[in-house]
Amino acid sequence: MTEQNYTYPEKTLKTEMPCVGVCLHCGLPVHMKLIPAPKGTGIRFVRTDITDKNNVVPATYLNVADARLCTSLANKAGVSVSMIEHLMGALHAYGISNLRVELDAPEVALMDGSAQDYITLIECAGIAEQDAPQKAIKILKKVSLQDGDVNVCLSPHDGGLVLDTMIDFPQSSVIGHQEYHLDLNLDNFKELVGRARTFGFVSEVEQLRAMGLAKGASLENVVAVEKDGVMNPEGLRDPKEFIAHKTLDAVGDLYQLNMPVLGAFRGEKFGHRHVNQLWRKVMADHEAYEIVLLDEVNK
Ligand SMILES: [Zn+2]
Repeated sequence: MTEQNYTYPEKTLKTEMPCVGVCLHCGLPVHMKLIPAPKGTGIRFVRTDITDKNNVVPATYLNVADARLCTSLANKAGVSVSMIEHLMGALHAYGISNLRVELDAPEVALMDGSAQDYITLIECAGIAEQDAPQKAIKILKKVSLQDGDVNVCLSPHDGGLVLDTMIDFPQSSVIGHQEYHLDLNLDNFKELVGRARTFGFVSEVEQLRAMGLAKGASLENVVAVEKDGVMNPEGLRDPKEFIAHKTLDAVGDLYQLNMPVLGAFRGEKFGHRHVNQLWRKVMADHEAYEIVLLDEVNK
């Protein structure tokens, strides 16, 4: 047997990792398993609570169905999985391109609202290198999308992925205008954005609950924002936790091809759906990108 040695191989976990949590929107408990998957299979969610139709939902941009409050996937049978973005962010940072994620509820566990617990699970499992070279998507020309005061774009960049993000919430002095720059590598991800929690406005919670959403939200998993501060007794983990969290969301949403992105992302006042629309625009333009082997790029 010939042993292939790639500097940048595809990766999965070494061993299966279970976890239990709560769904943010439906409020149900969810039991999950992160399970090693063969090379070339990508990230796949499997709804074990559904057995009468196709319950496998691959995490690709074409399956993103509803991305207003979180990133939701749905397959052709209409089976959906929501709130994938924080787990996807951690998988992106660790370069894990093959994984089977089993869950028995419609949403990925929110955990503490950040990617911290997924980082711990990945580190406990360990990372297995696979016998296949890792592909990446290299951005060749600027593609942008504007929607009111929302701007998102991907541009060519020498090196890996850099992100520049901006949010503006003048209605809360604790958030206000924030900008962030992230050069994505594992250390920066773990130290800066992986720990940043989901946030929401206290004034909007009642409205969301009336819509049947945010039933699992609590001060244990969401930073509750008021006009002049936050309700959480422990306060913020970092003064820039809000924009760091938006950046975590973007790292997750930029992994919808299950391969690293070589390019520069800029996002202003953006949401999940804008990143998905941007992906669709990039993928529809064959001059905008090429698929490369990381081994070739980094020779
Ligand atoms: Zn988020």
